[in-house]
Amino acid sequence: MRYQSTRDKSVFITAAEAISQGLARDGGLFVPELIPKLGSDAIEKMLEMTYQERAVYVMSMYLDDFAEKELREYVNSAYSAESFDHADIAPVKKLEDGMYFLELWHGPTCAFKDMALQILPYLLTASLDKTGEERQVCILVATSGDTGKAALEGFRDVPRTKIMVFYPKDGVSDIQKLQMTTQQGNNVDVCAVEGNFDDAQTGVKIIFSDEALRERLTENGYFLSSANSINWGRLLPQVVYYISAYCDLINDGAIQNGDKVNFCVPTGNFGDILAGYYAKLMGLPTDKLICASNKNDVLTEFINTGVYDKNRQFYTTISPSMDILVSSNLERLLFELSGKDDKLISGYMAQLGKSGKYTVTPEIKAAVTRDFCCGCCSDEETKDTIRDTFEQDKYLIDTHTAVAYKVLKDYRAKTGDNTPAIVVSTASPYKFCDSVLEALGREVGDNGVMLIENLSQATGVPAPGPLSSLKDKKPRFDRCVSKSEMINAVEDFLK
Ligand SMILES: *Cc1c(COP(=O)(O)O)cnc(C)c1O
Repeated sequence: MRYQSTRDKSVFITAAEAISQGLARDGGLFVPELIPKLGSDAIEKMLEMTYQERAVYVMSMYLDDFAEKELREYVNSAYSAESFDHADIAPVKKLEDGMYFLELWHGPTCAFKDMALQILPYLLTASLDKTGEERQVCILVATSGDTGKAALEGFRDVPRTKIMVFYPKDGVSDIQKLQMTTQQGNNVDVCAVEGNFDDAQTGVKIIFSDEALRERLTENGYFLSSANSINWGRLLPQVVYYISAYCDLINDGAIQNGDKVNFCVPTGNFGDILAGYYAKLMGLPTDKLICASNKNDVLTEFINTGVYDKNRQFYTTISPSMDILVSSNLERLLFELSGKDDKLISGYMAQLGKSGKYTVTPEIKAAVTRDFCCGCCSDEETKDTIRDTFEQDKYLIDTHTAVAYKVLKDYRAKTGDNTPAIVVSTASPYKFCDSVLEALGREVGDNGVMLIENLSQATGVPAPGPLSSLKDKKPRFDRCVSKSEMINAVEDFLK
């Protein structure tokens, strides 16, 4: 299987090269040349498999420069009973007939980012070996919350890697901050940055483009890389859980092999829902992929009109991981839907850079609406959904998942489409205790780790182990630097 860039499809590289490079030199994203096919016989075969076996089965179709034995080793280490608190890894919870939740937050950091970031370090270090890279890799992350912790946990004590995470001093929740500053491992560093997420992100971008630093690091045997969702090695593991959820519904007798289902996905950078689209392209019987947004509704507008316009107010919401104006992975979708028209895609992305806006052709717009529906909702509606779901069904969901559930209910009311639907549940409600407590009409008097106990007492739902144990942990990292000092922090770390 070869990979090509969305902005220049004439150059082909291997999967290992795509994973170690991350982003193409022309600024494009790597995509597989062909989409492997998944017939109903393959699904039949996968019914019997564990999550780990399903992951090997699906990923080996895309990674033919990796031996199956290798993949099995990585998958078993990544999705282990030690790291995940549910034997099914990505269990499907039935709310009622035809309504299911795919719980992707049973990993070590309680958000769906674990599904990819637990295995990416194995794929990345193996890719370095396969491409003859001799230097060690240092992963730099600027985070607004979930990604930083998931990346730290994934890369912790992985040979040949170091990881350094920058978070905005006042831009993450108390719980997210504690999760990061108490991180274990001998190859990790965590540092606060004065300013907001943009300052941290700009600081990291400046470090990446510093040629002199790159040379100094090479002399010390290091190179820099990133762990964000533009890397194919992060996207591919996410394709697995769409297929696995479908198998689980068959095993439960909810559907028969071949029946169509809908997925509703709380969306930010468009990585998660794009993985669902790849599963559909492979042949997974999927009718609609429903793209759910919060008040930052740039994707809702795009799907409805074909105009992508980031020139709009940015809102800070109670579903912060979806507070995004530029959804990078949309580029991969447009590449597929345009019949792989790399010139057209380069043009759109240039327009986005220059004016913050582009309009796709009527053909692409029509293709988008064949596969995708969309909707958005406010913070108030999100909270109402959390409360109603807990009161009526005794099921506690987080703010991101609630956005998706609300959008799905709106979609059903509007269209009458009652196809069995799976809401992709992306975080434990315990990661967003204050908003969830507020939604349930409880006092939010305390802060930090105390909120975890408050929520547990209010609902009788036990908190996940990694979060409830935070109160016993001592922070290891307390440094805070200005944007201009970030580069020194990196060099100190790599000395
Ligand atoms: C990252 C994240 C999302 C958005 O996923 P994308 O792949 O960026 O679209 C949704 N919910 C939670 C909890 C997240 O951490």
